[in-house]
Amino acid sequence: MTARIIDGKAIARKLRAEYAERIATLKSRHGIVPGIAVILVGDNPASQVYVRNKITACKDTGIHSELYRLPADTPESVLMARIDALNADPAVHGILVQLPLPAHISVPNVLERITPDKDVDGFHLYNVGGLVTGNTVFPPCTPYGVQKILEYENVRIEGQNVVVVGASNIVGKPMALMLMQQDATVCICHKKTRDLGQFTMLADILVVAAGVPGLIVPQMVKTGVVVIDVGINRLPDGRLVGDVDFEGVRKKASMITPVPGGVGPMTITMLLHNTIVSAERGLAPKG
Ligand code: NAP
Repeated sequence: MTARIIDGKAIARKLRAEYAERIATLKSRHGIVPGIAVILVGDNPASQVYVRNKITACKDTGIHSELYRLPADTPESVLMARIDALNADPAVHGILVQLPLPAHISVPNVLERITPDKDVDGFHLYNVGGLVTGNTVFPPCTPYGVQKILEYENVRIEGQNVVVVGASNIVGKPMALMLMQQDATVCICHKKTRDLGQFTMLADILVVAAGVPGLIVPQMVKTGVVVIDVGINRLPDGRLVGDVDFEGVRKKASMITPVPGGVGPMTITMLLHNTIVSAERGLAPKG
């Protein structure tokens, strides 16, 4: 068996075209332009690239974006005041504070300060709690992107064995909750998991988000598995790879996402989606 390679870029392109239409409708019927505020504290080079990509994607889709650059020594209180102002600004539908933050700023404090109504990253405890009960408004963007890929590719989830490798708050845990909500039988593995292969071997759908290149090799998967590789790793020779031995595993899998070009393009796409949803929610009558 040789896997079909899932084209995340193509799926993202199609979704973004749909979102551009929703934005056009918001503008023409309601005079609303969805808006996102992005706050970047410090000058982490990777964060600068991520933020630039987000701003460009917003511009291309018709979302208004504002970038607030704050110096690395910004006191937490100043950042909080900026968030408070954005919480109160009706033209801003989404607020995103780019992580990581400088060590003197508490990430939980910052994430809780963003009003859940504008938490388009889906990191506020209110939205995290919604994942547990199955009614979250803003699912976190990376696992949401994976869910959209599976949906787009008509991958059956109900009753399937899903193994998620990685248990972080932003990828692994929400991913597991989202797939459990769709009636999969879910197993989460992490660094302390003994004999990882014993678990991955059971997967009908394997989602890998560990940040370890070459972690999943062909002997660890069963024939016909659907493999979603979330990992992004830069090798010493400059190549960008995922967590899965792509060339080996693709010979056993039925579908597989490449790195780059798989999950990556979907993450920003779901940020656009959440921002549009936030703007559309503002239209609903307040009850
Ligand atoms: P993270 O916070 O470092 O979490 C990594 C998780 O993987 C942890 O739960 C860790 O276990 C587990 N893990 C690490 N080594 C392992 C091993 N050898 N066996 C089993 N589990 C192991 O990372 P993250 O933020 O979730 O990101 C994970 C990967 O996805 C990274 O490569 C990141 O760059 C990538 N990523 C991609 C996107 C995208 O848009 N495509 C978005 C976000 C992240 P413990 O909990 O025991 O430490």
